[in-house]
Amino acid sequence: MRAETIQKIKTELLQLRKEAEKALEAFATKESGYANDFTSTFPDYGKENDENAQEVEQYSTNLATEQILEKNLRDIDTALKKIDQGTYGICKYCHKKIDEKRLLARPFSSSCIKCKNKLQKNQ
Ligand SMILES: [Zn+2]
Repeated sequence: MRAETIQKIKTELLQLRKEAEKALEAFATKESGYANDFTSTFPDYGKENDENAQEVEQYSTNLATEQILEKNLRDIDTALKKIDQGTYGICKYCHKKIDEKRLLARPFSSSCIKCKNKLQKNQ
């Protein structure tokens, strides 16, 4: 992979990281000491029953979103680490190069299309 392509992907990853963190900070607080660990805060709309019901509903939505975004952060960090180590773009299953187009579309992909498809079929 060309150095400028890697650079482009790295910039993209850092941008995605910023966006994910910002989205998390909107409803969760960052745990000190753990870079990618956030805790959803419980919303406070009021003391009425319907308000309490809304709070619970919002909280469970937050928890689900929190998990997705935290996974994204971990995937992004793994990809950034691989760039630093010079192992970026290698499929973690078959150890072959991942198609550059796939990486440009989804920069934190850690497996090639073939392996990904195989895994999905086995599920
Ligand atoms: Zn593969």
